[in-house]
Parts: sequence; C-alpha cells; structure tokens
Amino acid sequence: MSLDNIYQKAYSLEFLTAAEGMILLTTAPLSELMGLAHLIRLKKAHNYVTWQIDRKINITNICISGCKFCDSYSEPQSSMAYITTLEEYIEKVEELLKYGGEQLVLQSGLNPELGIEFYKSLFSELKDIFPRLKIHALGSPEIGFLAKMENLTYKQVLEQLVESGLDSLPGHGGEILCERVRLDLSPTRLDSSEWWAVMAEAHALRIGTSASIVFSQMESPHEQIEHLVKIRDLQSKKPLGAPGFEEFIPLVSGARLQTMPLAGQNLLQMPPEDYIRSVAISRIMLSNITNIQASYLSVGKEVAQACLHAGANDFGSIMLDDNPNIAGVKRMDAYDIQKAIADAGFEPKLRNRKYELLELPDCEFSRIMRFEELRTSPYNI
Ligand code: SF4
Repeated sequence: MSLDNIYQKAYSLEFLTAAEGMILLTTAPLSELMGLAHLIRLKKAHNYVTWQIDRKINITNICISGCKFCDSYSEPQSSMAYITTLEEYIEKVEELLKYGGEQLVLQSGLNPELGIEFYKSLFSELKDIFPRLKIHALGSPEIGFLAKMENLTYKQVLEQLVESGLDSLPGHGGEILCERVRLDLSPTRLDSSEWWAVMAEAHALRIGTSASIVFSQMESPHEQIEHLVKIRDLQSKKPLGAPGFEEFIPLVSGARLQTMPLAGQNLLQMPPEDYIRSVAISRIMLSNITNIQASYLSVGKEVAQACLHAGANDFGSIMLDDNPNIAGVKRMDAYDIQKAIADAGFEPKLRNRKYELLELPDCEFSRIMRFEELRTSPYNI
C-alpha cells in the first residue's frame, strides 16, 4: 500500500494494520506525519489544548519488584523506606486545594505489608476529610499484587477500592506491552496479559483509566507499533459508554534521560524528532482514543509544544510533587503552562482528569491569566 493510501485510510479513522503503522513509523516524512496527525486530532478532539492541576504523592516507596527503570523504590529494610502518614497527606492536599486543584495521583509499590484494608481505609479517610478530592491511584501491578495477596479476583479488588473512594486507574505497569522487554526490565512484575486483564476489568466496571507508552531504548519500532495495536484493541472492547482509556501518554523512561546539569534545560536523550514522530503515530494508530498528551515534564517545553502540532491535544499538568523531576525539566506553574500553550498557537483550557473543562480557579498561589493576556505577556513574571 502506498503512503498516500495509508494516509487516506488513517484520515478516515479506519484502524491501520500493524504493517501499515510500521510503514508510517519507518518511512513517512515527519512533516507529513505531523500534518496528518494534526488533522485527525481536529476530527477527534478540539483545536484548543487542555492542561490540569494535580498533585502526586507516593503512598510508600517500598517495593519488592525492583524494576530496572524505577528511580523511586526502596527495599523493605532500607533506611530510606517510608509510608506516608495521614498528617502528611492532609498538609499536601491542603496545598493542592490552595493551587485550585482537586486531583490527587497516588503512586504505590508492591509492599507486602500493605493489604487491601490499608488502601481502603486510606482512600475513605481522604474522601471523608476532602469530599471533593479525586483519587487517581495504584495501577495494574498493585491491583494484581493485592489480588494475589488477598486471594481475590481483580474485579473484587477494584470494586472494594472504588467503594472506598478510588476514582480512576493510571496506566502504571503497561510501559510497553511486550514480554521480551518486560522480562529484561521488570521480570518479577505482572506480565502484559495480566496488565491487559486488570485494565479490561476496570473498563467493564466503568472505571476511567490512562494508558501510556514508555520509551526505554529497549523496544524495537515493531514492538512500539504492537503496543499501540494492543492498546487500541483493548479500547475497542470496552463496554459501550464506558470511559475506557481517557488518555494516552507517550513518555520517555529515566533510562533515556541523562542526569541534569541545569534545571529547565531540555535533556531529552531520545532525539526530539523520534519523540514527535511517536506522538504523531500514536494519534494516527489510536483513532479510538480521544486525548493524546504531550508530557512537557518528560520531554521539555519546546518538544512538547511541537507535539501540539503533531496530534497531541493536552499538555499535561502542573503536577505538584515533592520529589525532583527525573527528567530535569522545571515544573511549570499555572501561568507558565498556559503561556507555553498560547505561544504554541493554541488556546489553553483547564480540565479535570475526565477532560471536562473547568473554570479557571481564583486561587492563592497560581497566577492564572486569560488567553488574550497570555499572548502578549512575558514568561515568568
Ligand atoms: S513496581 Fe512500580 S514502584 Fe515497584 S519497582 Fe516497579 S516501577 Fe517501581
């Protein structure tokens, strides 16, 4: 099939085969891919660009999985090991609310000391104290681990956690759905078919989820396309009206980022053209997922801005986080993120995790400006 025929098929939102995806990934000129991805984005999403205010907190850093690419886990006996206390959550969530955000991302690990009752009481306590809070927490590895530890099904674990306050599930654990790579990077963690099964169960229960691809230098172009086809197949199996995958986020693993000499510098080791090409291919292959994110926190402002012209319709979040960003990219505040989107030529719009648009909050710490003001304002005022 010629490139023109594949472009036409993609523009009609027909599913491309893996072979057609490979032709685009390996032979199509970048400018043509970006143009096609942008046209598909305009059909599937909007011309404006969304962003979010959220906060990430690690529930615990204790994990027995030992994934090679993970920079944040500790052995159970380590002096660095911790479990976040309720007082610490309260302080951090209050700060999030002051920034005008309500979305909490809770990361955990495979900690054999923490059973399902721990997570249930944590979620319900947080919801009791902060009823407006939205909890985007755990991931397939933690759900699979809890199911095994408690002798429950994935469905039972998810139902109990949702009952206690879980709102949605991140894509953690599905970095690349390829057994060859997983066996090298995270051999003790659940395999890709189990990741798939947890996500399928979440979709059946109408829990909103995220999916991502994490580039690690290990995966081949063929495995990258295979991953996209698997995500697309799972999305097409979700029940009618269920949220399924609400977003897809191409990320670069720490293995591809060098240590930062200068905060704020773009330290992407993956050539920027390769990342932009991958965002465009994600938009083209995933014609049944509405939102594709260009994560400036992973690749830096300039590359993420270019991705807004290559199919991405979301710029990520201001992500309050106590840990340094592994990519060395400076976290933006509410003003700078909107300024970056406006400078790329798009109107920024604040959203929640379900991609519903929100009014700009009148908050204490974030300087929020309207689109018209942003276009003529300087950076970092
Ligand atoms: S399972 Fe998650 S927390 Fe644990 S080592 Fe792997 S990536 Fe890190």
